[in-house]
Amino acid sequence: MQAKIKVIYITGYGRSGSTLLNMLLDIHPQAIGVGEILHLSDYYLRNEPCSCGKEVNNCTVWGSLKKSGAHPEKITIPSFSKYWSLYFVKNIFKYLFKLPLSPELEHNAYENKLLFEALLKIFPGKKVIIDSSKNISRLLLLQKSNFFDVKVIHLVRDGKAVLFSRRRPIRAKIERNRRKLMLGNNRTSFNLVSRWVMLNLFISIISSTFNSYKRVRYEDICDELEKSLNNIFHFAGLKQIHEIQSKISQLNSHLVGGNQMRFNEIREVKYDSEYLEELNLSDRIVFNIIGGPLNKFYGYHLNSKLQLERSIDFHRHF
Ligand SMILES: [Zn+2]
Repeated sequence: MQAKIKVIYITGYGRSGSTLLNMLLDIHPQAIGVGEILHLSDYYLRNEPCSCGKEVNNCTVWGSLKKSGAHPEKITIPSFSKYWSLYFVKNIFKYLFKLPLSPELEHNAYENKLLFEALLKIFPGKKVIIDSSKNISRLLLLQKSNFFDVKVIHLVRDGKAVLFSRRRPIRAKIERNRRKLMLGNNRTSFNLVSRWVMLNLFISIISSTFNSYKRVRYEDICDELEKSLNNIFHFAGLKQIHEIQSKISQLNSHLVGGNQMRFNEIREVKYDSEYLEELNLSDRIVFNIIGGPLNKFYGYHLNSKLQLERSIDFHRHF
């Protein structure tokens, strides 16, 4: 039987630091960080930038992958987007009761297998793919398929920091395209916190069906970078690495999708306590009522002023 493809799958609620974690894990010489590969087919269509600075069609990794004629097996780029809601509504029962995948989803899993195999061929010596798509439907598909050995990282972050980040309109500039995006979020804090609770609870509940599951706090990664990353490497069956701090600035990643910070070079991981002061009182109250118990379960204090949160100090490298 063919060996399964090892995948570190980062899941969790948006703005919990998954792009950063993917970039940091990419430091490992045996791992390939790919970012939110879930929407890869759309990135090709829109020719979106890769974290290396080039558009995906011109990137040395994604561009060459697309020229699939170069590979012995024909690769079609899997489009998972159209399946995800279908999977969740119809196939969650199949997942839980261990029923077979539909032929359509089985085929999608096979396309992902070919894609990952092609990636591994581009990087001889690499043996683990880090996928930070976060999407639970995709996670369940990879789990259910026999092609993958999935190591699930459930990334959590102080819910107040997540709420603050989601509520704050961010003006992000994609330099390469010379266009500006408004990534504001019009959802109410009640809606956001409810989603944060439901998604994290769902992952925690369903995690008992996973072969390999590890919950990781974003703040712990910032606090003890080398120890936290090595814990994850150990969990994924990878060797330990040292002097991680010095390796961070030498990153040359090829992440697609996710947070705009992937275009920046990480210099240092340090505190950013802005949300402690800036999260307004009504958001704070709504959060503590709905999300407080789960936040406490994850080890965060009710009084967020006791908490310090880190952010990334970076500068652009192109
Ligand atoms: Zn690239």
